[in-house]
Amino acid sequence: MSKPVKADPALDPVVPLLKAIGLSQAKAVEAVKSPKIAAELKDIIEAYSLHTRAEKLDDKQAGLIVALAGQLVKSEPIAEEKRAYVVRKIADAQLKTVDQVTAAAKYVEGHPAPIDDADFDAHCGVGFSITAAELYAQIAKYTTSAGIAGWASLGQVISGVKNIPEFRWANTLEVKNTVEKVFNDTFGAKEAAKPKGKEPKKAAPVKAAETSSADADSASRKSVFEEGFLGQLHKPGENPQIRPEFREQHLAVTGGKVFTRFPPEPNGYLHIGHSKAIFVDFGYAAHHGGKCYLRYDDTNPEKEEAQYFESILEMVRWLGFEPWKITYSSDYFQRLYELAVELIKRDRHMYAIAVEEIKASRGEKSGQLPKACVHRTRPVSESLAEFQKMKDGFYRPKEANLRMKQDLEDGNPQMWDLTAYRVLETPHHRTHDKWKIYPTYDYTHCLVDSFENISHSLCTTEFVASRQSYEWLCDALEVYKPRQSEFGRLNLEGTIMSKRKIHALVQKGHVSGWDDPRLYTLIALRRRGVPPGAIVSFVSTLGVSTATSSIELARFEQVVRHYLEGTAPRLLMVLRPLKVTIENLPEDYLLMVEKPLHPKVAALGTTTIPFTRTLYIDADDFRLEDSKDYFRLAPGKTVGLFQAPHPITCTSYKTDPSSGQVIELICRLENAAEVKKPKAYIQWVAEHAASGSPVRIDETRVFHQLFKSDQPSADFLDDVDSNSLEVVKGAMIETGFWSLAKRALTEARRDGKNRTEKALKDSAQGESSPEDDTPRATSEQLVGNECIRFQGLRVAYFAVDKDARLACLDEADEVDPARKQGDYLVLNRIVSLKEDSGKAA
Ligand code: ATP
Ligand code: MG
Repeated sequence: MSKPVKADPALDPVVPLLKAIGLSQAKAVEAVKSPKIAAELKDIIEAYSLHTRAEKLDDKQAGLIVALAGQLVKSEPIAEEKRAYVVRKIADAQLKTVDQVTAAAKYVEGHPAPIDDADFDAHCGVGFSITAAELYAQIAKYTTSAGIAGWASLGQVISGVKNIPEFRWANTLEVKNTVEKVFNDTFGAKEAAKPKGKEPKKAAPVKAAETSSADADSASRKSVFEEGFLGQLHKPGENPQIRPEFREQHLAVTGGKVFTRFPPEPNGYLHIGHSKAIFVDFGYAAHHGGKCYLRYDDTNPEKEEAQYFESILEMVRWLGFEPWKITYSSDYFQRLYELAVELIKRDRHMYAIAVEEIKASRGEKSGQLPKACVHRTRPVSESLAEFQKMKDGFYRPKEANLRMKQDLEDGNPQMWDLTAYRVLETPHHRTHDKWKIYPTYDYTHCLVDSFENISHSLCTTEFVASRQSYEWLCDALEVYKPRQSEFGRLNLEGTIMSKRKIHALVQKGHVSGWDDPRLYTLIALRRRGVPPGAIVSFVSTLGVSTATSSIELARFEQVVRHYLEGTAPRLLMVLRPLKVTIENLPEDYLLMVEKPLHPKVAALGTTTIPFTRTLYIDADDFRLEDSKDYFRLAPGKTVGLFQAPHPITCTSYKTDPSSGQVIELICRLENAAEVKKPKAYIQWVAEHAASGSPVRIDETRVFHQLFKSDQPSADFLDDVDSNSLEVVKGAMIETGFWSLAKRALTEARRDGKNRTEKALKDSAQGESSPEDDTPRATSEQLVGNECIRFQGLRVAYFAVDKDARLACLDEADEVDPARKQGDYLVLNRIVSLKEDSGKAA
């Protein structure tokens, strides 16, 4: 029986010890990844009976013990007495941070026993304390004396403060939070630091987001693939093999290149978590000049549906990646079957009847160690005959399973004779009714990886324990053995991604479908207008490690906002129009104003819009009561209009006699040369039928968080916020919208075509025959209304929804400014301009 090459850290005997001293399971597993540290920890815990102490350590102290072990294995061995000294200082809560423990380990290494208490304390910050108020006062003093002028110097101040000797032992996180507090109080909130009406300073490079997310952000991605988890992966060919010739054969096929695969189960739509796996699988291969398969893992016909296949390919491509080859686990059913027969002949397989029996024999019900199934030792000939009967349809589902003969004494349940084949009666979407038996994930995945010569089988950490059976099976069959490496899943807080739960939301009508823009499926994010490059940028900035990351929605939105800031053209838009009549202009007054589409990105070009006697401003920019810190419109007040040559002053207003609501403002156009420069500028659009101004929007959909709580739980259906979709009717935008829309679609079509031609040329996709139902790359997959994105100046970022009808964009050249009949304009708010304006746009 082959033994695992490397033990699973979760099964390390030190893990329970670490849990006994207060560490969580996850941290304990993480801590024992290095055998040296694990051994040191075991020694420390047992030597000082930390696990049986009357006064338990808390999790922080337990973490410090781990930090100490990490330090000790790095340095020269030290006297027992010195080690005991540091452990006691941790247990007595005198050393409180990792920083201090590091200093302590260094100190005792360099000083003879017995340790001088006072000197040790002084060197390691024992007894250091500072109140929040003192810290605040000191940082405020530092900020002033160093002449700090704003948020741009945040990093400088944090490191500056940490370098002051008195702050040597202050907790870094506390320092950072306090510096932020001081800055907030001194310079105002970080976002609001930009004066209203002025444009943000930083300009990101313009990118046609539809096409080039694969090469956007290349600098930060480079480091993701070269550092940390991905940086430490083996080189092709370095993965151990049971026979040396497997390595040679593998390298001969791959040419020593990286080969990866993205293996979704086609049983649902992809969500944002999958974008991490896509980024890792495709990105890692691309970064190393290798190839990545899109492999549909279709071994469970009961759950698969045709609609998912197309969508999965579409989303991979939308994110900017191209599969080298599209395959299916079902492509290999025959070969997998033959290997199963082979394995029975090698006496490695066994046969069992009834699933209940498996559970009992695996000990899952009783919590016992597994018992061998009665059929475990049946002769090969009998097993072969039974397997044949399974294949021939002699058994109904659950009546018979084929199980592997693994190692029932192994501590890893993944070694307890896993099922390799089960009987299913549902026809398969590709092999139809050819098979009555279907291979399991555990049996299929490693073998198909082997067939496809995968060099790096990257998956998420829930498969750590499966690695042992993965390797066991490849070795049992004596085939090339890829190396599986596991990274942490990406989760978003405040939303749900489970297929079952989204299905329930759709079924119960809480959302309009799987692509409802309040969801975090990729089709929903796409429809909402989130640029694929922003998603890739989000995933790459989070980095890849073995830890699961739980990220707040706000953080995701911040990345999207930042991405759009430098790429989205800006248009004048009023969400809730309020009519303004400029009393001192003639009825037929017309001034054409040319304005840039982006203040920093000249390449985005300009638009020309009319300015006339009748304008619309946003109702939010007018109030009846004036106040000292209010700079927009009120009776008697003057305000600037973006891009218009002169400011206006409100002289009077009209109200609706029944509701009392203000329905129109009467304003005077001032002469800019004669009045003070306005303190605020607001957006506007003008009425001018001949230029088709303004463009009237039928529906503007503003999305709020779907769930009321930030942690939608088991009863998530009750947690749905029925006000999470806000529909605003009658918003208006400037006429620049049409040329922008036309251009965005034309460019998306052109880029989609170029990319697709190249993809088909470079990949093995061209090989599939026309009758084959395998989805193929098409340029249409890359083009949708969501390509039309812009910032409504001072409002939010928007994209056109798929429900919109834009017949007039089909015109050959210029768009007819007068709206065509039948057109229907629907916008989606991608994201607000600022985090705190989340509630209403
Ligand atoms: P779910 O259960 O969330 O629908 P899944 O794991 O069943 O997801 P698969 O289709 O099996 O989805 O996943 C394909 C690949 O995507 C796998 O390699 C899986 O590890 C990875 N993946 C799935 N969810 C995430 C996530 N949240 N973060 C990172 N990778 C993920
Ligand atoms: Mg799955």
